[in-house]
Amino acid sequence: MNYINVHRKKLMVPSFFQVYNFGGGNGDKDREIVYSEFTEDTPALINYYYINNEYPHIFSNKIFDNVTDKYTNVGDLYNDIRKMLISKGEIYGKYSSPDYDFNKKVFLLDSGAFSIIKFIAKESDYNIDKFMDILPLHIDRYYEFANQLHFDIVIGFDLGGKYTEKDGEKDDDKLMAFLSSMDEDLVNNQILEHTIRYLKNNPSYYPLVLATVHGRTPQKYAENTRYILSLEQKYGTKFWGFALGGIASAKQLDDSWFMNIDFRPIGNKPFKDTVAPALASKIVRSLIDDRPIHALGCGGYPSILLNYFNGATSFDAASPVRRVGDGNEASTKIVFNPTPSREGFSKYFMGGINSDGTIREGKCGYIKLNEVPDKTEMCGCKACNVAGNIHNIKVLYSLKSIDSEANYFSRQLIGLHAVMQHRKLCEIASNHHTVDEFCKKYNNDLFQGLLYVHKSINKGS
Ligand SMILES: [Zn+2]
Repeated sequence: MNYINVHRKKLMVPSFFQVYNFGGGNGDKDREIVYSEFTEDTPALINYYYINNEYPHIFSNKIFDNVTDKYTNVGDLYNDIRKMLISKGEIYGKYSSPDYDFNKKVFLLDSGAFSIIKFIAKESDYNIDKFMDILPLHIDRYYEFANQLHFDIVIGFDLGGKYTEKDGEKDDDKLMAFLSSMDEDLVNNQILEHTIRYLKNNPSYYPLVLATVHGRTPQKYAENTRYILSLEQKYGTKFWGFALGGIASAKQLDDSWFMNIDFRPIGNKPFKDTVAPALASKIVRSLIDDRPIHALGCGGYPSILLNYFNGATSFDAASPVRRVGDGNEASTKIVFNPTPSREGFSKYFMGGINSDGTIREGKCGYIKLNEVPDKTEMCGCKACNVAGNIHNIKVLYSLKSIDSEANYFSRQLIGLHAVMQHRKLCEIASNHHTVDEFCKKYNNDLFQGLLYVHKSINKGS
């Protein structure tokens, strides 16, 4: 196992970052904080937008009012949030909750830029000159916020991806017209330069900063990495590492990312989404030294192996807890019926690797809770040990109408087991030197398909 030293905390290489979206909703997002002990010291990614009441949104929590006047440490803040939620009764009555200290986690701050960009666009009456005038102030406040709360790592501010593809945004004509009039590459490069100037002027800045790389094609990605390296030369200062932006979803990507791969022998799913993160990791790794690379939003289970073996050192994904959120009220009444149903169920992560390092039975991926066989072996993670067996999880899940906390608890047992599976894969991957070597030991359809993708990406290199 390899580690990077991050402010005297050990960050595993590779690392899966659990996304804490407290402040971006209630329900499961609250309980994920309450039951943090289940994922131990798994590092955390937090979205600035949700924990900063400068930008109003419907779930704004008053604990975040003037938060930098009240706290100097993000771990202390999350310890207090957890205490607050537990004292509000957002915990299952039959579970005895141990002490937990968030200060042992590595915290990474991401901007949640798209929501902030929308806010600034509106504030500047959709006028690009006004927008460019006030943008740097918002960026500086973001970096200052990370410094005041002593976040360990901060992602360089950026515009936050492809605007034309965002759900629901197409209805907002003014915003869409504004965004499409903007030269994204140019603005992102200006933000990069602004950031490196900020670092130059703030030599005692506490958080470690990742430069965010963008590019519509693999060639553009390489070009942008070289641009960042040239900025470092120009200003005589270095970023701590690199964050890979804009590559999390294959749907939004240019065809050039997939040119060397014939998906017919393996199928598109889930392999297509793993290609760009792997290729981007490979491109950036080939141009930089041994600094960290974080693949933003690319920590889905199928992506982990190829991210790592192509050069990424960490990644994040909200999917484990998002899949839990698929469960609706009606599903809690039919959870003991294994017949496939059209109701939305919380989804359980099947397959993967047990805590003792043995491969788990079943196809890797999420399935509806009612379809999970009661005899499914538990993986040995903390959540699985507390649950005891799948039937117990279903019983807790079914109690929604009489004890909603029992239902929330079952959902965390499901979601945090999935988080620990992602973490376990990171741990096992790091003990191998090549994808080949890993796949000889861990042989299932997913890993074999990934081996094929890996060979296609690395053909001729
Ligand atoms: Zn488990």
